[in-house]
Amino acid sequence: MAINPKCLNGMSCFISADNKYYPCCFVYTNKSQLNGWAKRSNNNIDDLDIKKHGYTKVLESKFLHDFYKSFDVETCERECGEDGYVSDREMHAKWIKYVSK
Ligand code: SF4
Repeated sequence: MAINPKCLNGMSCFISADNKYYPCCFVYTNKSQLNGWAKRSNNNIDDLDIKKHGYTKVLESKFLHDFYKSFDVETCERECGEDGYVSDREMHAKWIKYVSK
C-alpha cells in the first residue's frame, strides 16, 4: 500500500471538540478506523488527548510515531493512496491550497 501522506506534507491537522489531535480531518470523520488501528497496534486513543497530555507530548507520542509509520487504515488508502483524490484543473490535490506560505 503506497501512501503519499498529505498530513506529513503540509495539510492541517484536526483538533476535535473532545480535545483530541487527529492527523487530518479525514481520519477524524472515520475515527472508528483509528480506534481499531489503535487496538491492533497496542496503542491507546487517549494518548491523543491534548487537554490531558499537552500538545507537544501528543505530537511526540508513541501513538503518532507508530501511526505515521503505518497509515494502516482504509481512510489513508482512500485519501492518500495511489488513487487518492486530485481535484483542480492543474491536477494538484486540493489540499495544496491549504498550505500556508
Ligand atoms: S488520510 Fe491518512 S495519510 Fe492522508 S492525510 Fe489523513 S492521516 Fe495522513
